[in-house]
Amino acid sequence: MTEIVTAAGADAMAAIRRDPAGTLLALDFDGTLAPIVDDPAAARANPGAIAALGRLGPVFARVAIVTGRPAEAALRLGRFAGVPGLEAMTILGQYGAERWDAPSGPTVAPPPPRAVGEVEHALPDLLEGLGLGDLRVEHKSRAIVLHTRGRRDPDADLATLDGPVRELAARHGLMVEPGKSVVEIRSSETDKGVALRGLQRETGARQVVFAGDDLGDLPAYDAVDRMRTEGIPGLLVASASHEQDALVARSDLVLPGPAAVAAWLGSLADDLAA
Ligand SMILES: [Mg+2]
Repeated sequence: MTEIVTAAGADAMAAIRRDPAGTLLALDFDGTLAPIVDDPAAARANPGAIAALGRLGPVFARVAIVTGRPAEAALRLGRFAGVPGLEAMTILGQYGAERWDAPSGPTVAPPPPRAVGEVEHALPDLLEGLGLGDLRVEHKSRAIVLHTRGRRDPDADLATLDGPVRELAARHGLMVEPGKSVVEIRSSETDKGVALRGLQRETGARQVVFAGDDLGDLPAYDAVDRMRTEGIPGLLVASASHEQDALVARSDLVLPGPAAVAAWLGSLADDLAA
């Protein structure tokens, strides 16, 4: 098991061991629970991670997924429905704009912002003009995701997109969320920090664990930093990859990808059962 390297992380781990029932465990989906794959529709949560979450669910205040994916997609790709031990699970989708709770069932989502439809309408001409008419475009109800993974030079394509996409987003009052071989145009109504803070308040959690892998997880890191100043211990776990190391320096525990995250969750469940 990879080591916790910070005093704040050690404090949080001690609090989790002392008071598991007061612990909120929140995890990003892609790159953290599910290995990154070329086709986002083919992503699947690591089976070992699902099993470990099922063991942690009954012990913790709440197990939650906080993802940029639509809640329904994370639920389907994660195969979380009906997993023993996840009867109280929450999925916050599209950075917290959507919500699925295991006890109540269907996803709750407000109507999508009109600006997203306007950008969808303007996008084909913009991509054509940049010579990127064949780019893979994923339409989420509240966001549009441009994927460069699997292309000849993903980073060069991202660089080409950067200015024009930011301009387009700004014109429609939307924000740009960069990631690993991906750029997302989305409404700025919420972020993972707001989502995580809301869950902590709602559950009354006395300590928080958050695991993520990409730039969109940084607001959740900020939220954990703020909670620490308020006396709520937090453990920040990075699922590190060669593509993105922005989270590593800020993490208490650095694990090399989803398989290592799954193994760590399993050892945490063993630890708490002992
Ligand atoms: Mg991720």
